[in-house]
Order: sequence, then structure tokens, then C-alpha cells
Amino acid sequence: MSLPTVGFVSLGCPKALVDSERILTQLRAEGYGISASYEEADLVVVNTCGFIDEAVEESLEAIGEALAENGKVIVTGCLGAKTSEQGGSLVAQVHPKVLAVTGPHATAEVMQAIHQHLPKPHDPFMDLVPEQGIRLTPDHYAYLKISEGCNHRCSFCIIPSMRGDLVSRPVGEVMREAEALVKAGVKEILVVSQDTSAYGVDLKYRTDFVDGRPVRTRMTELVQELAKLDVWIRLHYVYPYPHVDEVLPLMAEGKVLPYLDVPFQHAHPDVLKRMKRPASGEKNLERIQRWREICPDLTIRSSFIAGFPGETDAEHQYLLDFLTEAQIDRLGCFVYSPVDGAGANALAGQLPDEVRQARQAEVMAHQAPISAMRQARWIGRRVRVLIDGVDSEDGCLIARTMGDAPDIDGIVRVRPDPNSRHSVTVETGQFCMADIVDSQDYDLEAVYVSS
Ligand code: SF4
Repeated sequence: MSLPTVGFVSLGCPKALVDSERILTQLRAEGYGISASYEEADLVVVNTCGFIDEAVEESLEAIGEALAENGKVIVTGCLGAKTSEQGGSLVAQVHPKVLAVTGPHATAEVMQAIHQHLPKPHDPFMDLVPEQGIRLTPDHYAYLKISEGCNHRCSFCIIPSMRGDLVSRPVGEVMREAEALVKAGVKEILVVSQDTSAYGVDLKYRTDFVDGRPVRTRMTELVQELAKLDVWIRLHYVYPYPHVDEVLPLMAEGKVLPYLDVPFQHAHPDVLKRMKRPASGEKNLERIQRWREICPDLTIRSSFIAGFPGETDAEHQYLLDFLTEAQIDRLGCFVYSPVDGAGANALAGQLPDEVRQARQAEVMAHQAPISAMRQARWIGRRVRVLIDGVDSEDGCLIARTMGDAPDIDGIVRVRPDPNSRHSVTVETGQFCMADIVDSQDYDLEAVYVSS
């Protein structure tokens, strides 16, 4: 069997040459053949230059020649990033038959386009690994890590000293992983990081390429792209910065799950300052109110710390009052405990263990009726749920609504309708419609309606 073979035309400066070398290296590593002639190649990559008019002309001519001689052409390099006067890609406008266009430094994008139009040869070793990699979660949901590290220095946390400052993955790379997950059957993607709102800050929101389109490496743009995948998208670790408001309309339209995991940790501005929390100056109550105005179905999960060093009775009470107002749906409250190496250990006013414990119990008791009321809002609604499994004891389906993240939130127990002649025809990893008939503290009871 002959090898799938790629022809390569490399134009431009040494930086473009390095890009060409990277692509050629990757092609060889994946087992593609390389050809110096148009006839022997199954597809041609043209790495272009767009620096001066002459170079633009030369690159456009080279693309035209490759199209005429071979027909299957992928364009990369500086000219690929140039827009025409009408705003679209200049290359695509002059040569609409090219298969894909990317900018410079886009080895992964180019390889993705090559895989799409000229599948890579079978590799008996690599192909044992599924395209989406090896995952430890069930087949139907997956975590998508968009960055590593954190630029903040919360006084109770040592993550930045262990993992370093924020390093975001370019949006093209994140989207390729997300697309591979969906292709592998994943129905729910959980976006995780240390600080999802800060995504792309370290890259200065640099433009990357998603399916040949320029997209900025920034939270709103990433969420807009993920929304196109037509699976459940759930956002975790979102700090309440003003730009978070930009994703709420997508939630209201049902394109992204109306769910925000926002670790507030406290409500009193002085405690937040001592904690050195990101977005500590934001007016969180107003922000929550505005979010709910835009998206009334929004479920908010948050975590808090009780008994932080120096927390006064008044500050603790302020937190309880905040919870009454904020009506947070899902809440975790932790007793403050010093972590080796954390700055908060040196703060004045460390509280006795009994006080910290008592305050945590008080927060949880205060929140219990609020959570119960928020849960009860579901009763009487017909909702789409995702099935995680079957209860081995009573055979009912264990599922989740759009308001429940796996492992940390509640579940919905879905039973067949005793008055229906239709049987339940769904399996783990599928969606079904269910009528919510009852609620407990964290979980919901439902009756199966249809698949
Ligand atoms: S707690 Fe603060 S410092 Fe730690 S990872 Fe989160 S935002 Fe960063």
C-alpha cells in the first residue's frame, strides 16, 4: 500500500522556514511520505509570506500553481492571517478552492487539516490510544483543562507556589481537544482551571485559529466556540469579573449550561482583602442579581471559608446576611485551616478551633432552608436530564439536571411512570426528559417521560 504523501512549498523568512520544518517533522513522525513533485503528492501545503506586496503576489501565485497542478491545497503562514478589504481571509477570497487556511506558527492546525483531507497512515502502536486520549471519567462526560497555574496570591492558598503563574492553552488547542471529546461520544464537557475568568490573560488574549477561523484566546470567545459543539458545557472556577456577564446570554439561550461555579469564599470586603481574593472589590450581590435577570434558570454553586483569621462576629454575620440575599443554589462551607506555607498563617487574630467549627455549622444551618427552597423550584418542571447510571438496588435511573455537576452536586432519581404503558428505553450516557415530582436537600425525584 502506498503512503499518503504530502507536497510542500515553503516561502518566506527563516521564521516561516522553522514552521515548515516543524510541519514536515510532524508529517514524517506520523508516517506520511513527502514529495518534491505535484504529481506524486496527494495534497500540497503552501507555507506563505505576506510581508510586502511582492511576497503576497508570489505566495498567491504559488497557491494558484499548486491548485492547478495538484488540486488539493492547504495554506499556512503569514499570508493566511491576512484579511481582505471585505474582512474575510484574503487567500480564501482569491483562491476559494483551498481546503484550509491558517496563520503562521500553526503546526497543530495544519496537521488537523491534513488529517481531515488525507487521513494519516495506521500506526499499530499509537493507534492503541484513542484520539481523545485516555480518560478516567465515564465515557459521557469529561473535564477540559484550559489553563494551569494562577496569577493570584490568595493568602490561604499555596497552589501558585506549587503550579506557578497562569499558563493558558491557546484556544485552537483547547477546541481541538473539545472536538475530539465530542467525536468520542462525550455529552458533557466540564471546563476547569484555577481561574477560568482569567483565561488568556498570560497570552494577552492572542488570536489563534479554530477550524481556520481567527479566534481570541479569551473566556468569552472560548465559551462561544464551545457553545457550537451542541453538548452540555459547564463552567467551573469562574471569578465574578464584569466580563463574565458576556457569557450569560449564551446560558439564557440554552447554548451553554446555565450553571456557574463561583468560589466566593467570603462576602465581607475586609475579609476578602485579607484573603487577597481576585475580584474582591466587585459588588457581588448586584452581579448575581444581574446574572439572574439575564438568565433566570441560572444555578450558582459556591464555596466559602468560615473562621478565617481576624473574622469578627460582625463579618461572620455579614456573610450570613449575604447568603440570605444571594440565594445561592449549591454551597460548600469549609472550616478555615492553615496550610503549610500559606501567607494567612501569619495573619493576626487566628480563631480557636471551636469558633471556626461553630461558624461553619452556622453557615451550613443558615443555608439549608435556602438550598431546599432553591431545589423545590424544580418541582413540577419537565427537564432534560443526563443519565449517569442505574441504581443497583432499586433499578431507578441516576441522572443529573443542567443544575448538577457530577460528583459535587445532587442527583435526580428517575423512575418509570406507573401509569404509562411505555417502557424506559434509555441507557447511561443518554439524555431523557423527566418530570420532577419531589425534592430533598440535594437530590430530586422524577418520573420518566421520554428519551
Ligand atoms: S485560591 Fe486564589 S491563589 Fe489559589 S488557585 Fe484559587 S485564585 Fe489562585
